[in-house]
Amino acid sequence: AISTEHSSLIIYSHSLGDAISKELAITEQLRIAINNKELELYFQPQLNIQNNTIVGLETLIRWPTENGFIPPVEFIPLAEKSGLIIPLGEWIAINACKQAKYLIDQGYKDIVVAINISPQQFQHPDFYNMIVGALAFTKVPAHNIELEITEGVIMYNEADTIDLLHKLKAVGLMLSIDDFGTGYSSLSYLKQFPIDKLKIDQSFIFNINTDAADKAIVNTVVDLGKNLGLTLIAEGVEESEHLDILKKMGCQEIQGYYFSRPLPVLQLHEFLQNNQDL
Ligand code: C2E
Ligand code: CA
Ligand code: CA
Ligand code: CA
Repeated sequence: AISTEHSSLIIYSHSLGDAISKELAITEQLRIAINNKELELYFQPQLNIQNNTIVGLETLIRWPTENGFIPPVEFIPLAEKSGLIIPLGEWIAINACKQAKYLIDQGYKDIVVAINISPQQFQHPDFYNMIVGALAFTKVPAHNIELEITEGVIMYNEADTIDLLHKLKAVGLMLSIDDFGTGYSSLSYLKQFPIDKLKIDQSFIFNINTDAADKAIVNTVVDLGKNLGLTLIAEGVEESEHLDILKKMGCQEIQGYYFSRPLPVLQLHEFLQNNQDL
């Protein structure tokens, strides 16, 4: 029995070691990919379902390799751990702003391009200057850019967070709470923070047509948001039944495969062209 335990222990530490060296290898590949500008931005259109207009685009990072795409859920955590998220995050911000500028110049004056912000970026002392610098460099009006933060960011250091959010709001940026409903924070922050939009997490949407509890949660979040004067967007909308329910609830916006998958730039431009008079 002892020897069995022993050998399984060795196997365990062995595979743990493998996992760590695999992480280090991916982190190193990521560093190289960033330097070689191999990463790419995709954009997922967001639809206003009350008046059928495209209102925004969420910026989503893609890492193409010889063996296909490495999903962001695999490499963003490693970028956060290693600090690579700071230069990568700046690259994302600048290139998302460049795309916003291009579209504004094409006549999409009110388009809002949303950028995901990791907690590590938000807590970095240069974050404010980085964002304001990206706006100035690309000549994009702040109201065309939205920062998506999670509830985790808000919990971290409340006084500093409130200050920073007010500074970002003061320059005119749009602010949204990503994955709303999945964090553990109290709702009281909603009245203290200058937030524009709640993004209802997709886990509540997937079964909204069959699961009464999910439907009740979403209905309550929509009412809460509306009573606070916030815009509501539902993520992960895949089916027309989802859309019908959300429309009835008074949810203003949707994002999901039902309307569009995240698109590379050329396809995005085609999509916008083809949906001009939606
Ligand atoms: P997220 O911010 O919650 O992004 C939404 C995710 O849901 C995206 O996955 C998107 O492709 C996917 N999605 C959109 N519509 C649907 C749908 O109808 N059904 C389903 N099943 N999925 C849908 P993606 O692109 O793989 O990104 C995953 C996560 O990685 C993001 O979650 C975000 O946390 C992170 N991430 C992605 N891009 C960035 C980035 O540029 N910066 C940072 N910091 N994080 C990013
Ligand atoms: Ca997001
Ligand atoms: Ca989300
Ligand atoms: Ca997420």
